[in-house]
Amino acid sequence: MSAVLHVDLDALAANIAHIRATVGDAKVMLVVKDDAYAHGLEAVVARAWRDGVTWFGAFDVQTGMRVRAALGADARVFSWIAASPVDVAAAVAYDLDLGVGDADLLEDAAAAARSAGRPVRVHLKIDSGLHRNGVRPEDWPAFVARAATLVAEGRIEVAGVWSHIAEASDAEDDAARAIFDDAVAVARSAGLRPSVRHLAASAASFARPEFRYDLVRVGAFCYGIRPAGGPGEPALGIRPIARLEARVLRIEEDRVIVGIGHLDGLPSPLAGRVRVGTPAGARTLRRIGAVESEVGAWADAAPGDVVVIYGPGANGESSATDLAESIDTIGEEIAVRVSPLVTRSYAGA
Ligand SMILES: *Cc1c(COP(=O)(O)O)cnc(C)c1O
Repeated sequence: MSAVLHVDLDALAANIAHIRATVGDAKVMLVVKDDAYAHGLEAVVARAWRDGVTWFGAFDVQTGMRVRAALGADARVFSWIAASPVDVAAAVAYDLDLGVGDADLLEDAAAAARSAGRPVRVHLKIDSGLHRNGVRPEDWPAFVARAATLVAEGRIEVAGVWSHIAEASDAEDDAARAIFDDAVAVARSAGLRPSVRHLAASAASFARPEFRYDLVRVGAFCYGIRPAGGPGEPALGIRPIARLEARVLRIEEDRVIVGIGHLDGLPSPLAGRVRVGTPAGARTLRRIGAVESEVGAWADAAPGDVVVIYGPGANGESSATDLAESIDTIGEEIAVRVSPLVTRSYAGA
């Protein structure tokens, strides 16, 4: 009997509605990298689209192509990691909005647009301090000047200017925002007219109104994953949309053996550190094996009983972020570890 990840799409819709209300005039881009944080991309984007979400954040081009295939021509799909000219050509063919954070990629995009016979929509990325990818401030004026030339030649449309911030300290984020504002001003004086400026992910989009600009890129909060060490779900107004369940396989003396293990994506270091939900309330997750694990016993435990490994808390279980905190990581890390082989089951599809 295998584990099942139950995904409540009504809860997704409620989280998105709350996020929209919170960010006011900014649009919400639903970030769906890593198979929608392992909740299952197709079901997630279909429900969000039905509820009026028009922007999707796809990280890699492959994911962007999946969103396009699922939703058709009208969705705006932003992909910000194009690794090669082949990726860029695919992005153009699938009409993705392409994040461009270096001068070579800008040339690749222009070349792909020439082959396709139509302009490619790009979002130019300034490196506002994370040094991951993005154009350094000293290189930005030449970069946007070149972009303006390509706009004039009809090869690209500059739809956006964007960056990514650490969301770790307000001071660092403020410094990043100053760099971002300068970059937007320089792009404008080069003649560019980006219609969307975007900087914030989940945390800053809630906590820092001045970081919202035209668009916020939100992943974690849509899935009801709160930040490790941060405010709780009730304070944020969100709830976890996923519930990872396993079944009791057998009882061995006072040990309850359930059908889930580290091969299903349950990190072994959680053993002995966290409590899971059982029909009798919270119990310790004592041991994690490859495909079976042991949970603290309760009276009347029987094969087939449901044990909730993480979820919204209705059975005394922890949330993904609670589990994460016990091993010094973040809730997203717990969520994306759930194996693709674990069955996904949807309510509200
Ligand atoms: C993952 C990601 C996001 C979403 O972050 P959350 O904290 O999950 O909301 C936004 N922007 C970029 C560039 C990302 O990689």
